[in-house]
Amino acid sequence: MNSSRNIGDKFAKKETVFSVEFFPPKTEEGARQILRTANKLREVSPDYVSITYGAGGSTRERTVEYGELLREIFNFEVMPHLTCFGNSKAEISDMLKRFNASGFCNVMALRGDPPKGETVFVPHPDGFKHASELVEFIRENYPDFGIGCAGYPEKHPEARTLDADIGYLKRKVDAGADFIVTQLFFDNAHYFRFVEKCRAAGIDKPIIAGLLPALSLKQVNNFKTMCSSDIPNTLLERLANAPEEDGAKIGLDWARSQIEELKSAKVDGIHLYILNRAASALELARAIRG
Ligand SMILES: Cc1cc2nc3c(=O)[nH]c(=O)nc-3n(C[C@H](O)[C@H](O)[C@H](O)COP(=O)(O)OP(=O)(O)OC[C@H]3O[C@@H](n4cnc5c(N)ncnc54)[C@H](O)[C@@H]3O)c2cc1C
Repeated sequence: MNSSRNIGDKFAKKETVFSVEFFPPKTEEGARQILRTANKLREVSPDYVSITYGAGGSTRERTVEYGELLREIFNFEVMPHLTCFGNSKAEISDMLKRFNASGFCNVMALRGDPPKGETVFVPHPDGFKHASELVEFIRENYPDFGIGCAGYPEKHPEARTLDADIGYLKRKVDAGADFIVTQLFFDNAHYFRFVEKCRAAGIDKPIIAGLLPALSLKQVNNFKTMCSSDIPNTLLERLANAPEEDGAKIGLDWARSQIEELKSAKVDGIHLYILNRAASALELARAIRG
């Protein structure tokens, strides 16, 4: 039996690896919500769960704390995210030591975005400029960690072209990343094209499709601005023409049809951005597992 806890090793065994993403809560109500959702998700046994690292490293303590709770109480394989923003190499190394001591075996290696109010990423003078440098550092100093990195089917907003962005993604893979989790997308065509281009560029690691069940017209328009996500007209029209309270149901139906198509294409994995919500996560998890 293969007992490896490296997430990268799960893809050989499973048809579609299924994972969800949590964020560390800020309030008591948020704390109750994440724990309730995690408890419900036990029913659908995610292959792993990830927990984000707030913009600018703002949640680092809570990322570790809630990551530990998700592992200890619910027995999930937990992958904390780690970003370069605002930290020196020594500080990042300390955080990796903590991850190790907390029993995490995987890390999602990211450059990070600046905190609210700032728009430009300025690297720490003793830190890393690009996620590929962080991946390289982790691979050299913590060789047993499974390493995830980010990919952008519609290109990263700062990248000149998709091809240039894929060139930098290849650097992350060459530096030691084991798998790629994509930015959310609402049109599968972008994902399929991205995978094709990555394979042509020599990227042979699993590429996990990131999906988010939309909640409202306002929310998807925010994603359009923040992530440069293309929102298909059909989805926009459905959200625009329905009462606001129907938004979540429309988003759920849309994500379910994305899942059906991704599953029939036998994608490596599907990662749900669940925003710590249980109901949509459970429904979509059943669609992925079914
Ligand atoms: C699945 C996922 C999870 C995320 N989780 C978090 C989180 O928990 N916390 C958080 O703060 N943010 C998170 N983000 C957001 C992420 O931090 C931002 O998108 C950030 O702007 C880029 O991070 P990256 O790791 O992709 O950076 P990089 O891979 O460094 O890429 C950033 C930009 O630099 C370019 N680039 C890369 N290498 C080079 C080079 N050598 N020379 C020139 N240009 C280069 C790329 O084309 C791209 O435009 C997440 C994103 C995704 C997709």
